[in-house]
Amino acid sequence: MCGISAYYGKENGVPIILQGLQRLEYRGYDSAGLALLKNNEIEIIKTKGKITELKALAEGRSANIVMGHTRWATHGEPNYINAHPHSSADNSIAIVHNGIIENHAELRKELQEKYNYKFTSQTDSEVIAQLIQFFYKGDFEEAFRKMLTKIEGAFGIVALHKDHKQMLCARKGSPLVLGIKEGEYFIASDPTPFLEYTKEVIYLNEKQMAVIDDTGYKVKDFNGFNLTTELETVPYGIEAIQKGGFEHYMLKEIFEQPETILNCFRGKIRHIDSISIKKENIKRIIFVCCGTSFYAALVGKYIIEKTVNLPVSVEYASEFRYRQPMLFPTDLVIAVSQSGETADTLEAIRLSKSLGCNVAGIVNVTGSSIAKECGQGIYLHAGPEIGVASTKAFSSQIIAFILLSMYFSQNPYFRKEVIEDLEELPAKVKAFLQIQNIQSIAEKYKHAKFFMYMGRDINYPVAREGALKLKEISYIPAEGYAAGEMKHGPIALIDENTPSVFIVTKDSVYEKVISNMEEVKCRKGKIICICDEITEEIERLTNDIILVPKVRWELTPIINVLPLQLLAYYIAKANGREIDQPRNLAKAVTVE
Ligand code: GLU
Repeated sequence: MCGISAYYGKENGVPIILQGLQRLEYRGYDSAGLALLKNNEIEIIKTKGKITELKALAEGRSANIVMGHTRWATHGEPNYINAHPHSSADNSIAIVHNGIIENHAELRKELQEKYNYKFTSQTDSEVIAQLIQFFYKGDFEEAFRKMLTKIEGAFGIVALHKDHKQMLCARKGSPLVLGIKEGEYFIASDPTPFLEYTKEVIYLNEKQMAVIDDTGYKVKDFNGFNLTTELETVPYGIEAIQKGGFEHYMLKEIFEQPETILNCFRGKIRHIDSISIKKENIKRIIFVCCGTSFYAALVGKYIIEKTVNLPVSVEYASEFRYRQPMLFPTDLVIAVSQSGETADTLEAIRLSKSLGCNVAGIVNVTGSSIAKECGQGIYLHAGPEIGVASTKAFSSQIIAFILLSMYFSQNPYFRKEVIEDLEELPAKVKAFLQIQNIQSIAEKYKHAKFFMYMGRDINYPVAREGALKLKEISYIPAEGYAAGEMKHGPIALIDENTPSVFIVTKDSVYEKVISNMEEVKCRKGKIICICDEITEEIERLTNDIILVPKVRWELTPIINVLPLQLLAYYIAKANGREIDQPRNLAKAVTVE
């Protein structure tokens, strides 16, 4: 998935790009590198480490044309040789690439066997630089375009040639955005690297390229024809991407939830019919999603089926797209994705569209590939989520499902009641975050080897999300389960060393969850309970209690996920984990 950041202008681009890459580390951090173009020479500086190491290596360097990359390896292990930028064999060309070149093996073989090209890395990306060299006859742009006709797969590419004062880029499948300032240009995977320099941007569309030189910028199609484009303004400022006094982005993002929840419904709840999703003749909703978005969508299923009487299914995008799903023109297929760049989700949407379904997106990042592909949907407006483990996007996604249920429901009483309760929610979230007692509970259980998380009904997916959070950032194995299913298998895992986190809301399944807690208790399991009322049986059965505010049924997942996010955070912290960038993960999964 990787992050790309590039600068063309009058200033020294090295510090600009290094800082920009740091903001893109959520996209990958296996290795990093820079290419500097100066006096008809390209200098490449790379490291197997993170951006802080790259900074030390690039100390004192300067150039007006610079591009950088932070990698999330797909082809070839994360080492120095495979770090981007990659060069052509004659070192005249350098490229950075985000995505996967699917036909790289055959292209590489042809260049090696027929033309004796030497490759140095194991990456799919290197072939891009080699192909540009192969086609180069004095016109860099022409060679770049010829290369584009050969490669298949997904890519965001930026390229430099030592003899041309030009910066070229192209996208298909992976995001690229141009930042425009008088005489200075930026290219990046998202606008955060250059936010303090300009908010004026052009999001490149599928199969568009751009050429930047001293005369300005041109956006073209892959045949070289000029396109007219519209400048857009990024809706948030630099403060949205800084830590603001918190030790980690994840903690900051957890504490932002009173505001992000409000941002998601503000302006919409009183104008619910202005949501732009075609709803005539819809007989079924299918959510396609991955990871945390999948659990949020499961909550969405409980809400919509109960309040709208419309069947809803929730599918892993990676399964859906390869299994010939039964789809009908009366299906509304909704992509749920924080980044809006999730490769499997994007393809699931393309597949559904090609089969005649109505498609929509619930995404956070405006102008993202999924938002563009769908053309209709609900934006979360949660601001940039930088911690790799998703938190504020989850609660906003649930708000979006509530908005969707209000939109589909014609019942004015339901709408009115939900509006009132939603308006009270941010203050309740804030109050809970201020007084919670979770750090001490985390200390108590930080050495546990395994955790169970259990809930029922609308809070069953929340239990799964809680387990996922713990796995992602603390690396402690955890299982999230429907409490009623426990006795069909996982109860075998319970012993006196196993903490079980139960979500016990006073709702229609309260008694059932209490029975499940009894089953754990009599097997000597430890119980941490998240409840909205401390009853006599809860006191008797549990070792630790986290009391959350009472809210209406549809909103309980939002209130209940807060302690689970904090528990995972504090356990990971107590174990000295690298919370914002957990091992093996990246934020926007733009590869399948
Ligand atoms: N496929 C390229 C590599 O493995 C780029 C991966 C990415 O987008 O991070 O180096």
